[in-house]
Amino acid sequence: MQTQDYQMLDRQHHLHPFTDFKSLSEEGTRIITHADGVYIHDSQGNRILDGMAGLWCVNLGYGRQELIDAATAQMQELPYYNNFFKTTHPPAVKLAAKLSELAPEHINHVFFTGSGSEANDTVLRMVRRYWAIKGKPDKQWIISRENGYHGSTVAGMSLGGMTPMHDQGGPCVPGITHISQPYWFGEGRDISQEAFGKQCAQALEEQILALGEDKVAAFIAEPVQGAGGAIIPPDSYWPAVKDVLAKYDILLIADEVICGFGRLGEWFGSNHYGLKPDLMPIAKGLSSGYLPIGAVLVGDRVADTLIEDGGEFFHGFTYSGHPVCAAVALKNLELLENERVVENVRDELGPYLAKRWQELAEHPLVGEARSLGLIGALELVANKATGERFDKSLAAGNVCRDLCFDNGLVMRSVGDTMVISPPLIITRNEIDELISKARLALDKTAEKLAITHPM
Ligand code: PMP
Repeated sequence: MQTQDYQMLDRQHHLHPFTDFKSLSEEGTRIITHADGVYIHDSQGNRILDGMAGLWCVNLGYGRQELIDAATAQMQELPYYNNFFKTTHPPAVKLAAKLSELAPEHINHVFFTGSGSEANDTVLRMVRRYWAIKGKPDKQWIISRENGYHGSTVAGMSLGGMTPMHDQGGPCVPGITHISQPYWFGEGRDISQEAFGKQCAQALEEQILALGEDKVAAFIAEPVQGAGGAIIPPDSYWPAVKDVLAKYDILLIADEVICGFGRLGEWFGSNHYGLKPDLMPIAKGLSSGYLPIGAVLVGDRVADTLIEDGGEFFHGFTYSGHPVCAAVALKNLELLENERVVENVRDELGPYLAKRWQELAEHPLVGEARSLGLIGALELVANKATGERFDKSLAAGNVCRDLCFDNGLVMRSVGDTMVISPPLIITRNEIDELISKARLALDKTAEKLAITHPM
């Protein structure tokens, strides 16, 4: 089939995720046919540097034969069996044990799911169940953050703080409330980073007091917000949040779906910030995206209660701990470990990206460049001196994203924030290529916007 054939069939039959169906159908899609290392290839022969590692997930890069072999071998041995009704299988057992070894000390149990959203559905049910067993069924409220992302199932989107998602599809799951996010460039520039981080942590305490400590079950947050725009909190934020949580009897859920498995240069984002979460939803980098798998890493406090006093937990999925997905995840973890990928992000690639990424802060279109490990963002501004944003109708971020794509780089736009999250096996040369392509796209964006919005 040719590109046009795929595009026609796609238009006729395929409803894409997070997509305006009508406008996509008018514009047509790009057909990605194969990939290797950090590059994807489309049906028209373009080779594109994948600055997003798929959807923040292809941590080991594309085309790893070891992962393909692990899937093949497991397919042949046992393509499917479940973990319900007192059965299990070697890949699920080994993966649970390995994750317990990699996770912080106090985490020794794993509940498998098929995705990050399912992991967050699980978390919601687990924390409420935990407090019910503890004889505190009124501890129901979960405090989350505006513009956080926790998935697209009903519970996932309710936990998340994306209002356009809340506005579609009827009422959210009750008992979830959202406080301000530690997004200094977007919402806090009138005060120092330090003061703003503390102010956001204070919002948590105020919300706990407003709801009543005995009504609050948990606080959920991504260590670094991903889908919200690679929002790296001010240094003062997490220590202050930790202080608040220590004061009240409230569980911490660190959503590690993006931050986990090396993105911030540690196995988990929680390690980077010294957090001790009770629950950690994970997915994406767990299998480097080669097969769908997620999980909740469950700390001893919750696990022991569920095990000792809980009775049956009426929850689980057909594909919880799917043997082929688990076998691939296990091999993925082995490769990340043996090749010291995580340490390399922390010691080499992260600092190198930070240095090169900061060079883009000089660009007239860029109000802020920030990065941590291998996640980064650029804030596009209409006026560099004042930090004034572009008029929303110009969709500057989307303009830049499209120019990136045309120019051989995948960079994502979240409003006017440009985001990168490349595979963790990217080389220094490939980082150089990413930077020069990003710079070119910024130049072209400036040129294009200058016509409608002279700077
Ligand atoms: N949590 C976070 C932090 C995420 O970034 C995502 C996905 N982008 C999810 C949960 C949901 O994961 P999934 O798409 O696998 O359901």
